[in-house]
Amino acid sequence: MSLLPFGKLPAAKPRSFVPPAIDLGDWPQIAPLFDRLEAQAARVNTAAELERWLLDWSELNAALDEEASRRYIAMTCHTDNAEAERAYLHFVEHVEPPVKPRQFALEKIYTAHPRRGELPGVGAPGTAPARLPKAGQAPAAPGRYQVFDRDVANHVELFRPENVPLETEEAKLCQQYQKLIGAQTVSFCGEEKTLVQMGRYLEEPDRALRQEAWELVAQRRLKDVEQCEAIFDDLIKLRSQIAKNAGFDNYRDYAFRQKGRFDYTPADCLDFHRAIETEIMPAVREIQADRRRQLQLDTLRPWDLAVDPRNRPPLKPFAEVDGMVARTQKIFSQLDGELAAGFQQMQDLKLLDLANRKGKAPGGYQSTLSEARVPFIFMNAIGIQRDVETILHEAGHAFHAQATRGEDLYAYRGAPIEFCEVASMAMELLGGEFLEEFYPPGEANRARKTHLEGIIGFFPWMAVVDAFQHWIYTHAGHTRAERQAAYVELMDRFGGDVDWSGWETMRAHSWHRQLHIFIHPFYYVEYGIAQLGALEVWANSRRNKAEALQAYKAALALGGSRPLPELFHAAGCSFQFQAAAIKPLIQLAGSELKKL
Ligand SMILES: [Zn+2]
Repeated sequence: MSLLPFGKLPAAKPRSFVPPAIDLGDWPQIAPLFDRLEAQAARVNTAAELERWLLDWSELNAALDEEASRRYIAMTCHTDNAEAERAYLHFVEHVEPPVKPRQFALEKIYTAHPRRGELPGVGAPGTAPARLPKAGQAPAAPGRYQVFDRDVANHVELFRPENVPLETEEAKLCQQYQKLIGAQTVSFCGEEKTLVQMGRYLEEPDRALRQEAWELVAQRRLKDVEQCEAIFDDLIKLRSQIAKNAGFDNYRDYAFRQKGRFDYTPADCLDFHRAIETEIMPAVREIQADRRRQLQLDTLRPWDLAVDPRNRPPLKPFAEVDGMVARTQKIFSQLDGELAAGFQQMQDLKLLDLANRKGKAPGGYQSTLSEARVPFIFMNAIGIQRDVETILHEAGHAFHAQATRGEDLYAYRGAPIEFCEVASMAMELLGGEFLEEFYPPGEANRARKTHLEGIIGFFPWMAVVDAFQHWIYTHAGHTRAERQAAYVELMDRFGGDVDWSGWETMRAHSWHRQLHIFIHPFYYVEYGIAQLGALEVWANSRRNKAEALQAYKAALALGGSRPLPELFHAAGCSFQFQAAAIKPLIQLAGSELKKL
């Protein structure tokens, strides 16, 4: 029995470098391919041969990537299957570790290659060296290798052997944090519950009950304050040293480079935070005041933020997952013929595993089978509105993968996260226009309202998480008290009108639960940037639906082949984070909310 929901999927392009019968789970069979690439590089004499070499390398990357995805998909679809688990762990433990240094060796060979500077787009960014195509050869796009070259060179330049053991230390600390947080449980209504499980009590209409649940969780979190602070102190020390070793003054500047953020700066992020404060906080306060009035309360407390303000039962968009798929298909049919055909193809090829069932990993994701160049969507639908948002979101990612199918350079079939999430978040909004496929009109509006309020409410928390880290890593040698004061100041700026009295210590440490701050430093603003882009695509579609969708699809088709601002511009977005850019988007969201 195959553990994969889909059948045999042919490669988008027949292999010409990787042997057809190779076992990609067996490192001794893979290693010779890296040897061959190294040997071939030494024989490359022209730019065209170097391009051919890059395509061989791409083919190997795609084959390895697809092998990893297949094992991951099989494992997450069958968590109770020992063979699926073994196959996945084998790849993670015995293939990925030896692959990593070999990949890095190829990157070094590429950056040192004498023909590198002759590739179009390499050398002078934006200005492609004039190069006439040979007869019968398609002309390479101007700047073709600009982004690829920039990313590879950056990776090679930042590498320091002395940072390897520090990064291992860092990973261990992150794991300690996860262990600490994962072990947090409370006893509620006679049962031991994880803090994630406790989340649903915050939607409980009985206020006393949800207060009790919230306080119990807060008390449990407070027990680990000291340990979280200690782990974090050690992380800051390590990260500062890593940055210093790589020649940076502070970890913030290092992290920006390490994440390949060539197209926006720390100053842009600080602008973004200020714009959220002036342009979005008034809307957040309005939503909170609205909630407070509907709940008939004098003040909003931290446990009043997730319950439906009119105490209605949860929305029920569908009973069966087949119905969800059929209705989603109808939404895409109304949106765009090409996207509808893409989703239909996923159904035909069984590239969807959407129903929640026993023996399936939690959550949802979109994965790409890189050789077949087709997307796969995994989720755990149970019949709630969140499922509808998730399928639209993941379908947006899937459309992105489908749009880059014709791209032969593996690196360009994926885009930076800032733009990937435009593809998905824009689809939540564009598809959200047709929620009547799932609901009668009143309920469709309720779903849209919750969704829009969620989008607006995300920005301030994003600003807190990001601005706090800017402060942390640019204030070397700060004390815990100073760090706490900096955080409380941010909560004052971005927390809105929520009454935390009696729980000030909890409020001052509420960042301890945000795993990104510990484990993925500086990884968060991406979602804010993408959400702005998504709102802009949506705003464009309000003016001219066909034109907005055309631009959206054209931008998706660029994959990762162009720098971020160009991807945004192609999609009809500005890639601006200042107040002037945000104001019209929030006005649109605000006026829309008033109609719902
Ligand atoms: Zn996403």
